[in-house]
Amino acid sequence: MSDHEDLGERITLARRGLVQAGIDALLVTPGADLRYLTGYHALPLERLTCLVLPAKGGPSMVVPALEEPAAQASPISRLGVQIVPWQETEDPVALVSRLLGNTNIVALDDHMWAEKVLRLRAAMPNTTQVLAGPVLRHLRMRKSTAEIQALRSAGSAIDRVHARMAQWLQVGRTEREVGHDIADAIIAEGHERVDFVIVASGPNGASPHAEVSDRVIEAGDTVVVDIGGTTERGYCSDETRTYCLGNAPADFSEYYAVLLQAQLAACEHARPGATAESVDAAARDVIAAAGYGEAFLHRTGHGIGLETHEDPYIVAGNSTLLEPGMAFSIEPGIYLPGKHGARIEDIVVVTDDGIERLNLRPRELAVLPT
Ligand code: ZN
Ligand code: ZN
Ligand code: ZN
Repeated sequence: MSDHEDLGERITLARRGLVQAGIDALLVTPGADLRYLTGYHALPLERLTCLVLPAKGGPSMVVPALEEPAAQASPISRLGVQIVPWQETEDPVALVSRLLGNTNIVALDDHMWAEKVLRLRAAMPNTTQVLAGPVLRHLRMRKSTAEIQALRSAGSAIDRVHARMAQWLQVGRTEREVGHDIADAIIAEGHERVDFVIVASGPNGASPHAEVSDRVIEAGDTVVVDIGGTTERGYCSDETRTYCLGNAPADFSEYYAVLLQAQLAACEHARPGATAESVDAAARDVIAAAGYGEAFLHRTGHGIGLETHEDPYIVAGNSTLLEPGMAFSIEPGIYLPGKHGARIEDIVVVTDDGIERLNLRPRELAVLPT
């Protein structure tokens, strides 16, 4: 199925979701939700761009006049969305309010800027604002064939970056220098944007969201490399591998074996009908049984798609049942403050009877020459 066929269906499904939730209309400003529903990849700006999607009635896209050509060039005109430009001296919020008419409940995309939310509230004091997340989440969580293909190629692109790690990750270089090379390669291997580069060597590896520092990499260091970017089609990659420059410390090798087992256990557990939290437990049980429970500081994973972090979250308390097409990370970690840490992360997508891994680099500790 092409992206455009998906798009028409998404608007229909979003509308159905609004009706079921008793919501009169949906307002969506630039971001992942707008791109998901309309294919319009607009930058979030101070000037208001806003999809106005009533549960019943025709959808419109309010755009600053100077953005009209970009909006026309996007798939929205083919989706039957009326483009409504506004001039610099006009009040776009009043325009949205006019298009909506009398509305009891309006859903706003979860990432709308507070400044816009409050202006909309002031213009429509009798309309209740709710979050659109609960409606849109159900659509965005279940990826279509075309979306899975897009995630698969993002996964291969970041695999190709990890495959070249020995070129850059060398004794005597700083994390920052290595990070620059990785960022260049993220683009060169098929992304449009670098989203994050974590090169956490030695004790820095004990902090799950360390980025890069001026620390010089030494022989015997273990290094957590967690990298990701966004491809031209808007879909994200995110993959962690842990490397070692020469021989790993003995205590590290011991828990790395546990971590590898935990990541595998979670991947083997994930399938349609399993809960998100049970996938977390599958990884956590292995780590806790080996005595490292306290050192696994974070949830096991997060959904991924047009955003790096989205539903479903693989965390205790999330009883969402996994369904074919759901895509998320499985990334247990073990962190020993002051010493080192390790994480293994793959993106997986739920199939009819299990999962497909979208990252295929070896998961064993990658030993690089010193
Ligand atoms: Zn993260
Ligand atoms: Zn990651
Ligand atoms: Zn991740």
